[in-house]
Amino acid sequence: MRFRWPEGTVFQRRFLDVEQTHCDCCGRVLHVCGRRCHRICTLKGPLELCCRLAHCSDPACPTRPATRSPAAELALTLPGWLIGWDVFCFIGHRRFARHWSVPQVCGELADTYRIQLSEDAICLYLRRYQAMLAARHQDLDLLRLAYRGMAALWLSIDGLQPEKGHETLYAVRELNAGRVWFAQALLSSSADEVRRLLVRARQMAQTLGKPVRLWLSDKQDAFVTGIAREFPGVPHRYCANHFLRDLAKPTLELDSHAKVQMRKKVRGLRAVECAALRAQRPGAEAASPQGVAARQGGAASEAKATGTAGVGRAATAAVEESAGQVVLDYCSAVRGILNDDQGGPLHPPGLRMAEALAQVRESLSRVLALSRPGPAHGQLARLAGCVDQGLAVAEGPQAEVRAQVEALAAVAKALDGRTGGLPQRRARYLRLARQYQERGGEFYGRLARVMEGWRAGLFVAVRGKGGAAAPGDNLEMERWFRRPKGHERKIHGRRHAGVRMVQEGATLLLVLNAQECHPEPFTAQDLLPYRDAEEPADQLQAIARRKVMRKARSPKND
Ligand SMILES: [Zn+2]
Repeated sequence: MRFRWPEGTVFQRRFLDVEQTHCDCCGRVLHVCGRRCHRICTLKGPLELCCRLAHCSDPACPTRPATRSPAAELALTLPGWLIGWDVFCFIGHRRFARHWSVPQVCGELADTYRIQLSEDAICLYLRRYQAMLAARHQDLDLLRLAYRGMAALWLSIDGLQPEKGHETLYAVRELNAGRVWFAQALLSSSADEVRRLLVRARQMAQTLGKPVRLWLSDKQDAFVTGIAREFPGVPHRYCANHFLRDLAKPTLELDSHAKVQMRKKVRGLRAVECAALRAQRPGAEAASPQGVAARQGGAASEAKATGTAGVGRAATAAVEESAGQVVLDYCSAVRGILNDDQGGPLHPPGLRMAEALAQVRESLSRVLALSRPGPAHGQLARLAGCVDQGLAVAEGPQAEVRAQVEALAAVAKALDGRTGGLPQRRARYLRLARQYQERGGEFYGRLARVMEGWRAGLFVAVRGKGGAAAPGDNLEMERWFRRPKGHERKIHGRRHAGVRMVQEGATLLLVLNAQECHPEPFTAQDLLPYRDAEEPADQLQAIARRKVMRKARSPKND
């Protein structure tokens, strides 16, 4: 990387000598044999390091050909670098703790510190930073330190696939310390590939010398068989949240269908909204000065200035205007409800929407009973009609959804640790499964089958201290996965997280986790021991594969 320092750059000079005075081979004095100038950017300004190099004074000494450099140089920068450690750590912290984009880092260095680095150069340093910090986060000595006071390990595994047809990034995370142990992108999620990850987790647990008391996963076959094989006797809990989602699949489909129908009918409100806007526009122009003043509570002063006739006109205009505004506000409220897509297996979005619409409808009825007939009254009545139609069309299917949700809620209650001890809840679960089985039919028959399939992993006891508090779902891990996604989104400003995350994930996940465990910037002392760290081979392979894939897609290839 060639770099041209701007004309007239003023360097602060620092002379560094080899710290050692005598040869450690023959004990003779070391002589200065040359010097090297290393110019770097630091946050405090340009710095010129004048390093005096030394070698043994005895020409016969075997160490004579080797020149020694001052160790102090390494505490300030690395050979070949244009920047000091302070800038290096600054860039890394801004990127991985603050999620800045490269142009943002580049601009900040130029504006605040007068450091002119190209975006390419910053990218190169960031890759080094990522490799170094990932190596540090996996350092077994530091890991032992972090687990010093912990009695047992709770491990969880999950995969993250931002795009269909691409690799999946698997990560193993320990829940007691909240640490990502490692991550790896796998092309296929076959049992053999996944087992390699589990073997690695077992080796790490053995190195730490701590017992694994719990495994958490979402019950993929490869996880179930692999964990049973590599961790015999270790309880394996299936994520309760995944279970409920699996259980509720047909219910949510039914709910979604009803929701779409309902929304279609209620969409008629657009006509009401347009009419209200049309009515408001010309009126607002005519009455605007008085109308606005009256609304702002200036009616009293208005009365003195313009006389009673003016007040009367202003007040009528204000009433009409505010009636129009009420219609628009109701329309906005309904629109907000239609755009809300939140909910879960126990609160399906369609049911939530219907409940919210029913509330608005009730409020509309009260307003309609009070208000006098007029244009606004007519519009509100039409709006109420739209809501009624929507609710009516969904009524039948939603009654069924409601009944199904009740059956699901009974199962969810059996999973909830607050509703009783494990054996009791297990008995209740089995009873429910039997009931659903006997009841039969498409929905309840499937319910019983899914419950049977998940039974083995939902009620496993965790021994040891704090076992009762062990999580019943893998939500913590899934929530953690939002971090790499959020990181990418903040940097690229796009909603979609992209495949880069999977390809660089092996180190990216570790770095994000490291920065989370260590919120303040890292320093030269922290990273110097890992200066030779390289990106792991599988990550380099994944990046190479991506290049080939892109080339194959591009129309320019020959
Ligand atoms: Zn010597």
